[in-house]
Amino acid sequence: MNLKEFGLIYDENRVKIEDKSVIESKLKEIVGESNASSKNIDLLAYTKDSTLIGFNWLLEGKISGLADFITWPETVEHISAILRLANKEKIPVIPFGEGSGVVGGAIPIWGGIIVDMKKFNRIIGVNDKDLTVTVETGTNGMNLERFLNANGYTCGHIPQSLYTSSVGGWIAHRAAGQFSTKYGKIEDMVLGMELVLPQGDIIKFKTIAKASTGPQFDKLFIGGEGTLGIVTLATLKIWPYPEKRAFISYAFPTFENSLEATRQILRQQIYPAVIRIYDTDETFRHFGHIEKAKDKVMVVFICEGNGRLVDLEELITKETCEKNNGVECGEEPVEHWFETRFKVTDTSSTPTFKMVFDTIEIGFLWDKAADMYHSVVEATKKVKGVVLITAHVS
Ligand SMILES: Cc1cc2nc3c(=O)[nH]c(=O)nc-3n(C[C@H](O)[C@H](O)[C@H](O)COP(=O)(O)OP(=O)(O)OC[C@H]3O[C@@H](n4cnc5c(N)ncnc54)[C@H](O)[C@@H]3O)c2cc1C
Repeated sequence: MNLKEFGLIYDENRVKIEDKSVIESKLKEIVGESNASSKNIDLLAYTKDSTLIGFNWLLEGKISGLADFITWPETVEHISAILRLANKEKIPVIPFGEGSGVVGGAIPIWGGIIVDMKKFNRIIGVNDKDLTVTVETGTNGMNLERFLNANGYTCGHIPQSLYTSSVGGWIAHRAAGQFSTKYGKIEDMVLGMELVLPQGDIIKFKTIAKASTGPQFDKLFIGGEGTLGIVTLATLKIWPYPEKRAFISYAFPTFENSLEATRQILRQQIYPAVIRIYDTDETFRHFGHIEKAKDKVMVVFICEGNGRLVDLEELITKETCEKNNGVECGEEPVEHWFETRFKVTDTSSTPTFKMVFDTIEIGFLWDKAADMYHSVVEATKKVKGVVLITAHVS
């Protein structure tokens, strides 16, 4: 079977490797016979990540990118040796976590060597006093969260892709989670890291709360999409598992009302773990069964943590929503969101209808928030072929 017969999307600018069998032997010397492969079945498994148009290409019988070798290193020294070899031979290297990225970072567009981090899956330990966990970066997000929950903690980083992403992928793409209003984004959580630079040097950023002098160089590597080095170990901040959770939801007449209510809540230094504003179309998609939310903008909140503080946060959140024309919708919409928050079956089935579903994320400040929302929606509607655009803010 020649994989190129499938129709290769990224076919140009592929690296030319003179003698593949020599490189494969060297890779096997580094990682062991069973930890390197150039078999078609393995190459095929690493042709794509979750970039959404990739699913449409697959249905057309096309593959996105094609690597020359797949490796499954087990130690940081393995990764260092792979990078030294690749650097010497000028062969591209693509770190691979779990392939849930949606911007093509793990697609081997120039061919080369995939470094799959699957075998870096050990949770080294928790420091209860410091509230940190040290973990190998190939560790699956849900496995980490389950381990922490069982021991009375939470990581606080809960992306929608929790079940299908790795700690290294979170760091490499500067992830945000559903609970980030309280716990922060991944760059707020990484306190220490070990990584291998492209030339093969192993460097360690020791675990510190904050740097006291000079620039903090470790932050450079967060969001590097694997281009600046391969992260092998990370120490992350963690939190005690919340003692109490309050589920709150309000429907607002306009998007502006919902933004103003959430702005005022945060201004009072109340940080619900979850705040999600759904525009009217997205409210219909998710909460069409709730009469009070008909043609409205739904906002769901979860306050969590120490029980007494949660009671106060709940009170202030509700008061502020009501002052801004919010109508209380109770716990049910939040329970519905909580139960379905990892489900993506409706959007992932769009390629079968010959439609492309995609998402964009935009960061903004309050002053421009409403204008930004309306102008992006209007501009996108004008693009030929766009069927539906919906938005949420979190
Ligand atoms: C349905 C769905 C929901 C999603 N929800 C969210 C969300 O809520 N929040 C969010 O932030 N993202 C979300 N994403 C995006 C995606 O899950 C993230 O990009 C995720 O963190 C990627 O992790 P991964 O292990 O799958 O990485 P991969 O897709 O394998 O790789 C992503 C990038 O990181 C690099 N990389 C991987 N591991 C390492 C490493 N150890 N060292 C250096 N570079 C590395 C790769 O080369 C690539 O460039 C979602 C994606 C999907 C499909």
